[in-house]
Amino acid sequence: MNPTPGKTNDSLSDSNSEDARQQKQKKKKSSTQLPQPGTTQGSCAFDSAMITLVPITDAAHVVHGPSGCAASIWGSYSSLSSGSMLYKIRFTSDIDENDIIFGGAKKLYKGILELARRYKPMAVFVYSTCITALIGDDIEGVCKDATEKTGIPTIPVHCPGFIGNQNLGNRVAGEALLEHVIGTAEPDTSTPYDINLIGEHNIAGAIWNVLPLLEKLGIRVLAKITGDAIYKEVCYAHRAKLNVLLSSKALINMAKGMEKKYGIPYIEESIYGIESINQCLRNIAAKLGNSDLQERTEKLIAEETAEIDEKLAVYITRLQGKRIILSIGSFKSWLIIFAAKNLGMEVIAILTKNNTEEDKIRVKSLLGQDGIILEQNSPEEILQLINQNQADMLIADKRHQDTSLTARIPFLDINQERNHAYAGYIGILEVAQELYAAFYNPVWEQVYQPAPWSEDEGVGEVGEAGEAGGAGNSSEEEI
Ligand code: SF4
Repeated sequence: MNPTPGKTNDSLSDSNSEDARQQKQKKKKSSTQLPQPGTTQGSCAFDSAMITLVPITDAAHVVHGPSGCAASIWGSYSSLSSGSMLYKIRFTSDIDENDIIFGGAKKLYKGILELARRYKPMAVFVYSTCITALIGDDIEGVCKDATEKTGIPTIPVHCPGFIGNQNLGNRVAGEALLEHVIGTAEPDTSTPYDINLIGEHNIAGAIWNVLPLLEKLGIRVLAKITGDAIYKEVCYAHRAKLNVLLSSKALINMAKGMEKKYGIPYIEESIYGIESINQCLRNIAAKLGNSDLQERTEKLIAEETAEIDEKLAVYITRLQGKRIILSIGSFKSWLIIFAAKNLGMEVIAILTKNNTEEDKIRVKSLLGQDGIILEQNSPEEILQLINQNQADMLIADKRHQDTSLTARIPFLDINQERNHAYAGYIGILEVAQELYAAFYNPVWEQVYQPAPWSEDEGVGEVGEAGEAGGAGNSSEEEI
């Protein structure tokens, strides 16, 4: 049986993570429940379940609920595909008032039959939402009937938004795969170097920066769960020799489940930052247990590191020593920390009210002993921080853009859509280019000019930041 909300909450008992703590807190009586910072961070569980599963590109993804649930998130994540584009089509049962009174299961069933006829997907994933979970529509039964009728695997995902936070949605999605998909097919061949990559959804093509490295080492990625994945590869993921969990705690229950059910060990790795990718490759080679592979891995690391160092040299010259004030919010802000360290930049991290205790611990470990971490969020406080620390750049979401303009320092919008892949060695170069472009944008030369009506106020007052803009113009051709 697919995880029901009740079962999902039970599965939290083996986790010490922040979201488990939050769920336990939620179980307390509302009169005694105190609000905790970060508990309302991000969107709903349904949203994150979709983020996890929609990158299965040749499947149809059906939202069983009001079309607004699907509309609120669809298209906001740039997970890329090298093949089928079916995953980009938004299917919804579009529940209305009549369905809420009489039930929407029949409508869902008819919809699945119709899309199966028209699009012939390799599988259909059906997502419950708050409304359809509350009215008790039997999506398990509908999926079973639809599978029998069409011959296309139809998988229920019990992810109404009210069950919890984003991490819980990821977890429900992982458990649906474990329950209904993994182990249902066999690969044509099997090698001792078969691995699964779990938790990287190929946003902006991130996974494509890593696959060539593994290919050079002769390591085969059997299944990508789920960036740029096809349904079939997830079905035979149980034949891998190792699960590599990438930058994601959310799918750890699935990795643990595969270890228990199929004896596949797992490791937790990151592919963001040069040291992290080096360590990731080393750990994979060590786990696959072959000395020849380990030697080849060291050789590859040496080659790739030398190449990226050469490419980064010019950016390091122009960026090292710069002080950036970085608001820790979206996923991208974590990537900036890795890149800034590689580029010799100094990071002053600002924690927002949305950060959890887990975030705080993680930032501290990333910035090390000397890292500065502050909890400030109002424009006045940030302006004060910029002045006190003589910061050279503000990296935050765009509501703080005016603050950077007031301080006359460059600004990088951290929440803009991710169009660049930051993973792997090439990813660091992408971040360096983005930081460089923001720092040395010619617009700063204009910003540092005195206003025509105040000729007496000179550029000199701007100081360090003024130097950044001017230098940027002169060196544009060098890069
Ligand atoms: S919280 Fe519920 S109603 Fe709102 S988007 Fe999520 S599933 Fe839909």
